[in-house]
Parts: sequence; C-alpha cells; structure tokens
Amino acid sequence: MLVNELSECKVYVACLACYVEGKLNGQWMTADELDIAWDHDWSDDDGKRILCPHDEHEEWAIHDYDMHGLNFGEHPDIVDLIELMRLLDEDSDYGIAYTLMQSVGADYDAQRIMEVRDAMVSYTCRSDWAREMCEDIYSRELEALPHFITGTIDWDWVGQQLEYDYYTHEVGYTTYAIHVGEF
Ligand SMILES: [Zn+2]
Repeated sequence: MLVNELSECKVYVACLACYVEGKLNGQWMTADELDIAWDHDWSDDDGKRILCPHDEHEEWAIHDYDMHGLNFGEHPDIVDLIELMRLLDEDSDYGIAYTLMQSVGADYDAQRIMEVRDAMVSYTCRSDWAREMCEDIYSRELEALPHFITGTIDWDWVGQQLEYDYYTHEVGYTTYAIHVGEF
C-alpha cells in the first residue's frame, strides 16, 4: 500500500569515519533494515558492508530522521529506536503519545507510550470537548438547570480551564491531551 510505504519510518545512518574524511556514505533504513544492520555490526545478512565499503569503519551516526517529525540526535539507543519505529509504523498516534511524554520529561519507555496512547484524548473543537465532558460528569446538575442558564455557558472558556489539568500537543487542527494525573 502506497500510503503505508510513504509513512514508514526511516533513519539515515551515516558512516562517521567517512563523514570525518568529508565523504557522505550511509543508508536510509526502515526498522527492519536497521534491526538487521545493527545485529550484523552494519553488514547485511551476507556480510556486505552497508554504510560504506570499508571494513574497518565501525563508527556511525544518525544524520537524518523521517519519523513523523521526531528526532533523537546522532547517537540514540538503537534498540529503543527500532522499537519506537515499529510502534509508529503500526500507528502514528504512538508518536504523539511519545511527544506528550517528552514534554513532561519522561524517559523512553515503550510500555508507557502504549499506555499514554490509550489514555490520551483528542479534539478539534475545545468547546465541544468541554461540553461533552461536563455533560458526562455533571449530567444531573446540568439537567436540573433551565436552558436559559445552561445556554449561556461559554464552553470554550470551560475548556480552557479544563486544559490546565492536561498536557496538550497540537497537530494541525487536532489537540491531543492527557490528564496530568496520568504521569
Ligand atoms: Zn566509511
């Protein structure tokens, strides 16, 4: 499927020794390709060097990320990176969950990323989100009031107040939010 191929995470792993010599040798890799290369010390299954032709070149650095805007610098933990790439290939919401975790300074943890993804909410209209949440929580109280009172509630303002208890991350018109109590 074209859409899947386009959104598949890739990282560019460069040969650091070549880079120091002024040559750009390296390879874009998907999670599976990176997994094999990492297991074989930057060679493929047949022992052929992947980053550059020189056997003695062992140093590497990640110089580019095509990973839903995420970037982990030149020397991330490769095993964690492969795991996160696979999560993102499955569902890009995991990337948003991880971004929310990063914003509170939480360390990488695949299990937590999955939990945060399940716990986070998303909305394109803050007033609708606020109204629906309050209608759930305060259904009896709201029903007891006449419409000439409930009709005057500024739900966007209510949403703004609710957001103080949430970590939020915006992607386009969509806000992703997780309650501070989840951390
Ligand atoms: Zn090299």
